[in-house]
Parts: sequence; C-alpha cells; structure tokens
Amino acid sequence: MQHAQTVVFGGSGLDRAAHLRGRDDVMTKALADGAPVLPVWRGKPLVDGAPGEGPVALAFRDMAHPVLAEVEAAPVFLGLDGAGTHLFAADVSGWVPDDVDEAQVGAFVDRSVQQHPSEAASGAGFAELRGIMAALTPRDAELAATARGILQWHATHRFCARCGGDSQPVQAGWQRRCARCGAGHFPRTDPVVIMLITHGENVLVGRSPGWPERMYSLLAGFVEPGETVEDAVRREVLEESGVRVGPVRYLASQPWPFPASLMLGCHGIAETTEIEVDPAELDDARWVGRSEMLEVFMGRHPEIAGARQGAIARFLLEAWLADRLDPEAALPPPRQREAF
Ligand SMILES: [Zn+2]
Repeated sequence: MQHAQTVVFGGSGLDRAAHLRGRDDVMTKALADGAPVLPVWRGKPLVDGAPGEGPVALAFRDMAHPVLAEVEAAPVFLGLDGAGTHLFAADVSGWVPDDVDEAQVGAFVDRSVQQHPSEAASGAGFAELRGIMAALTPRDAELAATARGILQWHATHRFCARCGGDSQPVQAGWQRRCARCGAGHFPRTDPVVIMLITHGENVLVGRSPGWPERMYSLLAGFVEPGETVEDAVRREVLEESGVRVGPVRYLASQPWPFPASLMLGCHGIAETTEIEVDPAELDDARWVGRSEMLEVFMGRHPEIAGARQGAIARFLLEAWLADRLDPEAALPPPRQREAF
C-alpha cells in the first residue's frame, strides 16, 4: 500500500551489521571504547523527554555509566549508526527503584517513569514504549523496538527448549546456545494478523476484555502453524465476530515487541454483516461508518475511543478514511481450495 513504511516501528533502514555478530573482539573493543548502550529496565527504554510532552529521544550511555552498573549479561549489538558507531542495548532490570508502583509497570497503559539516581541531573527516565512510540524518530523507534524485543526474549528464554539445560547468549546477543546439549536457539517473532474488514463504507471494529474504557480497534489474532496469512484473517474474524470474509490482501507490517509480535496488516472484504461475538475473545464488535469513524478520530464519539496513536490499527484506519488504500479492484479472488 502507499506510505506503508511510515507506520511507527515500520523500519528506518537500520544497518544491523549481522556479519559482525560473531566478532567478539569487535564487540569487546567497541564497548571498551565507550560505544553507546541503551539501558532498558523491565522493557522500558531510558529516554530524554517526558511522555506526552513533545519529542522523546533514546538516552544512550557508555558502560562506565552508573545506570549500567546492574547489567548482568553482555549488551546486545543493535547495529551501526550512520557514522559507523556500534550501538548496543542492555537489560538493567536488576535495578530496584525505591518507589516503584507495581500496579503501573507492565500495565496496558503504564504512564509511570522510573528515574535511576544517577540520572537525576539529566532528567532521563525509563518510559513505557507504547506511550512514547509516536514521539520517537523512526530510527529511535526501530532501535527501541529491537532492543525491547531481543532483551525480553533473553529474559524469558534462559533455558534450552530441547533439554532444559542452561543456555548462554552468543552472536552478540542474537542467539542462545545450550551449554548441555549444544542446541542453538534463535529470537522468536510471532506473526499476528490485524485486519481492516470492510463492507461497503463500513469497517468492523471490536474491543477485547480488559481494554481501557470505550477503546475499540481492529480485530487481530495469532497465525497458527500450517496456516497462511489470508486464512488466518478469515478464521480469526469468523471466530471472534461471526462475520465471513472473502478476498484478503496484505497492506503493511509493524514489529510489535509486546512481547514478540509482528503485526501483519491486511484488508479483507466481508461477505456477511451479521455479528455474533465470541464472548471469550471480545466484549463487543460493531460496524462503524466513515463519518462515524471521523468523529472517533476527532475525539467526539460518545461510545468509541480510537486505537492509540502509533499502533498499526490506527494507521490502517486512517489510511482507509483518507482513501489511501490501493483500489479494491486489485484484490485477488479467494484462493480456490484444492485437494492435494
Ligand atoms: Zn539443551
């Protein structure tokens, strides 16, 4: 689709320099020479600037900085910046703040910011990525999504999935190897379909249990083993809302490191309109017309608050409203089911 690369986390062309990941000597030297390291605390990157108040920038520090004193594992190599500087991220979750609000941290909407004592002068703090993603530059957004995703993977994959033995990071943090059986393990990314389902001038939205009040968004679900993206769209929409979908096409993607999803934005044409919600999956689903969706985006709809800024759902809905989807005539017909 047009402008697909402008989605938040949509990719800034970061040079990940994968050929350097096996070079322990290069990594060690870069870190010793003061390479920039992004501290990440419980999935929250260190940033300059307050959430909700203008631009926010990632705050990199060198390994000698006290905020990085709690680092237990070697920093992960993120890639090279435009000047050829090696960029890293490190997990500082071992730090225990004096006044952490456990009900906030990790919540769906976490507005709390934690400040390490050594950052009192700089004003930098650890902020939830979902709350700041739209205020970051595309490069910072890609670096932050990458750092959060890979560090969360390390935090939850300490043991070998084959034999249960201890595993260790290798390849500058892009693999883990089992010390007992030697198996290599790679960071996982879970494909999720998220779909703009339209019928004429209406779009299908729903709300999941536990979402903030009035929040509605596009339906979404995990792709299952053995399933195509298109079939996943049709299955998820039918399961959750009872609506049958015909033609489906891919539009744009968004890395979504909460904790490890890759959102595959699709457009599907509904063949039926009757809604029968699966209460285990959704609180509600409804068709919303163009003018009604415009009210939602202007914050004037009495019953619906829109998908959050920066999320691909909002991006796809805005593209639909602005007629930036490619012509529907280009949609391929549903694939014929053939017996193999
Ligand atoms: Zn093993």
